[in-house]
Amino acid sequence: MSVPYIRKEVLSMAAYQIPIDASAIKLNQNESPWDVPGEIKVKIAERFLNTPLHRYPDAQPILLKKQLAHFLGVWPDHLVIGNGSNVLIQAMLLAFSVGRKVLTLSPSFSVYAAQSRLLSNQVIEVPLGSDFSMDIDRVKAAIESERPSLIFIANPNAPTGNLWKREDLLAIVALAPCPVVIDEAYYPFSRTTLIGDIKCLPKLIVLRTFSKAFAMAGVRLGYLVADIDMAIQISKVLLPFCVPVLSQIAAEVLLEEPQWIQSHVDRVVLERDRVYVALCQFQSLQVYPSDANFILFRVLGGAGAHKELAARLLRKKILIRDISDAHGPLANCLRVSIGSPEENRRFLDELGKILR
Ligand code: PMP
Repeated sequence: MSVPYIRKEVLSMAAYQIPIDASAIKLNQNESPWDVPGEIKVKIAERFLNTPLHRYPDAQPILLKKQLAHFLGVWPDHLVIGNGSNVLIQAMLLAFSVGRKVLTLSPSFSVYAAQSRLLSNQVIEVPLGSDFSMDIDRVKAAIESERPSLIFIANPNAPTGNLWKREDLLAIVALAPCPVVIDEAYYPFSRTTLIGDIKCLPKLIVLRTFSKAFAMAGVRLGYLVADIDMAIQISKVLLPFCVPVLSQIAAEVLLEEPQWIQSHVDRVVLERDRVYVALCQFQSLQVYPSDANFILFRVLGGAGAHKELAARLLRKKILIRDISDAHGPLANCLRVSIGSPEENRRFLDELGKILR
């Protein structure tokens, strides 16, 4: 159907769609398998009851910024808080790159390229090797020849799960003629961060989310850490009052529970390492090591075998993500999020029955 008036960038954009099956074990969106505990929710509810709803929230949540800055060991002025890190990805594009060039790796998080194109940018995708490694010389050559206005790199990468070498990331920041966003959405699972480098690298921006390790995907809260002048400019681009009071309160209360956050991350990491070892036992799968809360694997049974596998798992009420592209580096690839021990056991049992 032809729709008049719509920008060509919107018409050519695919809708972000994720299959849903409320009755299935949900291992397709890299969420936490565990909700935040009831005691923490009660604290959130109590604080919410005492918060006026008829007033606008702070343009940038002042209290949350202070708390988060303390938690991270940075100054509050380095922070910009948004309603999800996706929104901050868009804000950084608005601030640095509309109708210009954006550089990223391929494969990587699809939102970088999709939002860049929506804002009329040319997207330079530097291909990773067949084992998803980064050829740093190739990345450097692309930066020098294309002179992008913004660079997005997920660390660990998504959907491949691997970490980049610190020296390669620092070399990219040093060479870039523009801001470099290091997206640490999966940071606590990888325990590797560039936040400590913010103060001496004004082009570096670290992006984080409460959706994964902090088990609050439903709260919609993301933040970035950047040079203070850069943070001031990016804040101007965000729509006023974009962080709802309920999200602010939920994040503030969670930050008062660092021991729960840590134990939650430890549990996920333990399960991830167990699921990885179990997946490696299947000879018909090529499994990629992960520093995140998901694992990517390639199904070796020929074209379409991965779709058949995902469909058969879904018939058993286990929902994982088909992340494949037809002939590209992700051909025949599926991605499974780490669930609770019981969910992982069900997934591995059903997988075993199908593959053996
Ligand atoms: N970055 C990466 C690498 C992600 O995988 C995701 C979520 N899938 C996001 C950012 C967005 O997270 P959110 O908007 O929930 O903060």
